[in-house]
Amino acid sequence: MNIDKISHDFFDTIDKKGKPLKNEWTILATLVVEINDSTQDEVVTSWKVISLGTGNRCLGKSSLTKYGDVLNDSHAEVICKRSFQRYLYSEIVNLLSNNQYSSLLLEFEKVEKHKEDDSSMPIFKIKDNVKLHFYVTHTPCGDCSIFPIEKDTGVLELNEQKNEVQDEEEDEEKKRNLKKLKFDTQRTGAKTVDGEIQDLKGEGVDYHQVGQLRIKPGRGDQTDSMSCSDKIARWNVLGLQGSLLSNFIQKPLFLSSITVGDLFNRDSLQRGLLDRVKDYHNPTTTNNVDEFIYPFNSDMKIHQSVLEFQYSKLKSEFAVSSGYSINYSYPSTKESTISSNGKKLGFTKKDFQNPKSQSTICKSHLFKQFKKITTLLNLPKYQDMTYHQCKQLSIPYNKTLNKLKELKFKNWKTNSIDLIQFK
Ligand SMILES: [Zn+2]
Repeated sequence: MNIDKISHDFFDTIDKKGKPLKNEWTILATLVVEINDSTQDEVVTSWKVISLGTGNRCLGKSSLTKYGDVLNDSHAEVICKRSFQRYLYSEIVNLLSNNQYSSLLLEFEKVEKHKEDDSSMPIFKIKDNVKLHFYVTHTPCGDCSIFPIEKDTGVLELNEQKNEVQDEEEDEEKKRNLKKLKFDTQRTGAKTVDGEIQDLKGEGVDYHQVGQLRIKPGRGDQTDSMSCSDKIARWNVLGLQGSLLSNFIQKPLFLSSITVGDLFNRDSLQRGLLDRVKDYHNPTTTNNVDEFIYPFNSDMKIHQSVLEFQYSKLKSEFAVSSGYSINYSYPSTKESTISSNGKKLGFTKKDFQNPKSQSTICKSHLFKQFKKITTLLNLPKYQDMTYHQCKQLSIPYNKTLNKLKELKFKNWKTNSIDLIQFK
């Protein structure tokens, strides 16, 4: 089935609030679930868009707050992932409040808990007949956006000049220079993080360094958000559920595939999303892998979409990026937000104290869902803990994260501690 077609058709059905205006472009990302139901003699497969995000902007450092009440990163991929988490929270609340409830994705899992794990959290897992597929209309910002491109002019220049050159040595030198010009690099606005190998910013292929951690570009003020290539690579190690939900979902939720539209390049996607993190288990200690460390999502397939997106950046060189972002979670939660302040569309600065101006996928709101679940479970000890403290609770998630940072993503920029102390 075509994930891109399903996603575009679904996007067309949602109302236009938050969609780009005339002469604006955006990026669309969706998470599509594949459900395989076996009947007596056949397997029936169905597909559903479970979450969706649009947007391509990110808040600068100076706009961040310490209440977790704004959306820092409104790139489509990240909005789509946070919308998926909102869906997971609501499914867990439904499953815990109603024992007749049947979830599309989740079911209880009976597991023996490890002795180090003293929590009384229930454990859910993704159903065996379900797969998750990710679609994005444009290649993710950061490392996946860096790949060689061939310039048409290079060959002509070489032929034109060939007859003029007499000296053989000079000829070779010219050929070398022309080769450099002929092959240029597709560039990203995402800058390398301090501590990584820095870009040379030279001509053509000497512009960027590949495989590095990068920060999203901002409008003026620098952002504190890692590029989408880095974040998706991290999902292949830690899953899409994130640290808080890992208390309820024991195994990481991995993508079975990613489908990419504009500026698709298989090699850079393979490098940026898989190869640079795949051996995050230190190869010298593979015989002694900690039982808590998650496995790597080595099975994620990479597909190309050639379907044109209505609001593609490549459709017009004069288009500007949309300042709005849409988030959607199955079955019917949809919001539109303003990417330049991370609040819901329809609220102005004087209303920002009003909790209704917060998106339901911001940190603070998802954390409220976490606390709601612990209340349903009669676990009062969590009520007084901060967001930061609760993010440390899941042992497997944090052990895996530490391993990843130790061996691969040393320079990953984490939220400054004073921004995550809210309750
Ligand atoms: Zn991005």
